[in-house]
Amino acid sequence: MLKLSFTMQILVAMVAAVAVGLGLQFAGQGELAGRFLGPGGTIFLNLIKYIVCPLVLFSVMGGIVSMDDLKKVGVVGAKTLACFFTTSLVAVVFALFASMAVKGVFPLLKSAAGAAPAAPPSTTVADMLIGIFPSNFAKPFMDANMLQIIVMAILFGIAIILIGGENGKRLEQGVRLMDGLCVKTLEVIMKLSPIGVFCLMCPVVAANGATVIGSLAAVVAVAYGCYAFHLLVIDTLCVKLFAGVSPREFLSKMSPAILFAFSSSSSVGSLPINMRCAESLGVPRSLASFVLPLGATINMNGTVIYHGVSAVFIAACYGISLSVEQMVAIAVTSTLASIGTAGVPGAGVVMLAMVLSAAGLPLDGIALVAGVDRIFDMGRTVLNISGDTTAAVMLNGRRRAVAA
Ligand code: ASP
Repeated sequence: MLKLSFTMQILVAMVAAVAVGLGLQFAGQGELAGRFLGPGGTIFLNLIKYIVCPLVLFSVMGGIVSMDDLKKVGVVGAKTLACFFTTSLVAVVFALFASMAVKGVFPLLKSAAGAAPAAPPSTTVADMLIGIFPSNFAKPFMDANMLQIIVMAILFGIAIILIGGENGKRLEQGVRLMDGLCVKTLEVIMKLSPIGVFCLMCPVVAANGATVIGSLAAVVAVAYGCYAFHLLVIDTLCVKLFAGVSPREFLSKMSPAILFAFSSSSSVGSLPINMRCAESLGVPRSLASFVLPLGATINMNGTVIYHGVSAVFIAACYGISLSVEQMVAIAVTSTLASIGTAGVPGAGVVMLAMVLSAAGLPLDGIALVAGVDRIFDMGRTVLNISGDTTAAVMLNGRRRAVAA
């Protein structure tokens, strides 16, 4: 029997989803896809979400413990954060300039012009900071609060290093066993990927189809142009300069994760596949299991691009010309907001409110882009995960491990 590779299976599922979705839309039965296939997609994403919390806990703990030295943990942690922030800033600044350069293509909506500016944000920076730290052992898991789970993992990992000796070794072994269990469970869930991807994508195509976007075509095109630039130029340049990985190798080895991220719109869900892709690019598991879960939670290059493009688009629709201060506010707030953006479908549009508020742009503008958010989301999730692997490959530098 013909055995398709994982990438091919996903590709076939995507093509089938587009064909069936367009067919249903053409027949005027678009809502059938949502009704009958939507639940399948939700079950698939739920299964991924259920395993991702323990996977991140044990994987980050495993990554820290394998460094075996607190100083090294600090250095790798600091370099990882520096990498994440720099690439996010580059992404949002480019998105702002690119969309400012072409903002003439965005429509001015007469009904929107002159709208009141946004109300001040209701979450303060202090709230955000406090929210990173868990106050209860179980709650982070119940709320699937990845940031808090990462803080737990870091504390446990540090504690195991400090315990050291025989007990430290036993704990380390326990962490590895649990990590292996989570990875295996996820592999079982991933066997359902083609069906899951089909069920997730078909309703999106059937609902939006060829008529996709009408007056939003311009902003979607600008967002995808920026996504493409960041993936094909910035990410590939970074891995080439820092690790000697060619763009062709990077893109071909990343293709399973890229396809999965595009069709699932979840960077957390794409984590296990992304982990395998990073390993095939020579990143040792110890580094990948620290950088990628952290990245899937706090590093969102695609989301910041989307924020930048949407903010310029909304301003243009309302006839507001952005000042330099407003653009700085968008860049800084978006980079910070992406830390709190969960790696699940639709999270970025929620954070857009914070970005618009910081720049004093009308919050009502969100309604202009929210209708087709899934279209933006598919592309930005690709960038969110490719940025994590780029950081892992850069941090690994030229010390390439032999791929398993
Ligand atoms: N869906 C994105 C992700 O999973 C987050 C977002 O909505 O921007 O990375």
